[in-house]
Amino acid sequence: MSLCRALRVLRAPVPLVSKRGLSHDPIRQGLVGMVGRTPLVKIQKLSEETGCEILAKAEFCNGGGSVKDRAALFLIRDAQRRGLIRPGGTVVEGTAGNTGIGLAHMCLALGYRCVIYMPNNQSQEKIDVLKTLGAEVRTVPVVAWTDEANYNHQARRFAESLDNAVWTNQFDNTANRQAHIETTGPEIWEETKGKVNAVVFGTGTGGTLAGVGTYLKEKNPKVQVFLADPEGSVLYHWFKNGKLERTEGSSIAEGIGQGRVTKNLEGAPVDDALAIRDTEAVAMTFRLLHEEGLFVGASTGLNVAAAEKVARIMGPGHVIATCLCDTGQRYHAKLFSRKVLEERGLLDSIPENHRKSLH
Ligand code: PMP
Repeated sequence: MSLCRALRVLRAPVPLVSKRGLSHDPIRQGLVGMVGRTPLVKIQKLSEETGCEILAKAEFCNGGGSVKDRAALFLIRDAQRRGLIRPGGTVVEGTAGNTGIGLAHMCLALGYRCVIYMPNNQSQEKIDVLKTLGAEVRTVPVVAWTDEANYNHQARRFAESLDNAVWTNQFDNTANRQAHIETTGPEIWEETKGKVNAVVFGTGTGGTLAGVGTYLKEKNPKVQVFLADPEGSVLYHWFKNGKLERTEGSSIAEGIGQGRVTKNLEGAPVDDALAIRDTEAVAMTFRLLHEEGLFVGASTGLNVAAAEKVARIMGPGHVIATCLCDTGQRYHAKLFSRKVLEERGLLDSIPENHRKSLH
């Protein structure tokens, strides 16, 4: 399928905000009720510098601490609705961490067992949190999706081997994208009073970008949707020349970057793509900390660095939205380590007066 056709395929289902959308009751119903309706934060200094309003949904305010809590909730609701899991059943997922943490929280709250397959190059903090949350964590070697030993295929096979178990399949189960069609998209639309001009997100599964983009394009086709891609990911080139080509290297940012077009990304209404270097993402992560007091991870640094680029492309007077995916605490050992940053050639991107955060 040609890229242009692929981009036209996805049309938001109607009605966009179904009865399954999130409640507006100010009293949140337990952990499950603590998903969504996160604060929309104006990034002060960048907004001033660019003349745009650069806004970000503070997704670390979700009950499980990341943007993936939205997907986790919708994936479990989807499994329940389709009768794939009964009380006491097992939720199995392949995840770089945040979806697993979201699922583990939901599983504790809803009475399910949680088993997580994870590539063995992810941060120790996320593994420790998952274990504390009662999940069984199985770290496996990093191999491509096309290899049957890939963590996602291992998760699927394990779920298939059990009774009363579901592989939630965050990459290709579009309940993930639906979470953002029904929650994040409407929140950005309502909170900006329909004034949003552009959104930009890095993608892992593509759920956030595709879901928010789909909803906002339905409300106003003029809203521009940008895909921000980290080093080592194929999506920037895929967008620019329609080819999925392997690329060298990898990003310090966890949870984003892709080697294929997932079902969640397929048909996403993307207007343009931006390639963001790790030096830019890391520099922005430290700017957010030191200028705004926002302690975030590198995928957030990448999102906001991309939002700044979008602001420069569009010019002053525009409203640009993105998200703060999770907190820097999840990456303390790695992203805030002088040694790690030095080894990756990233130390020079951090100004001297921001280096006091390093250990
Ligand atoms: N940032 C982080 C830290 C993540 O864990 C993820 C999800 N893997 C994303 C961004 C991207 O979200 P999505 O899967 O919706 O593309």
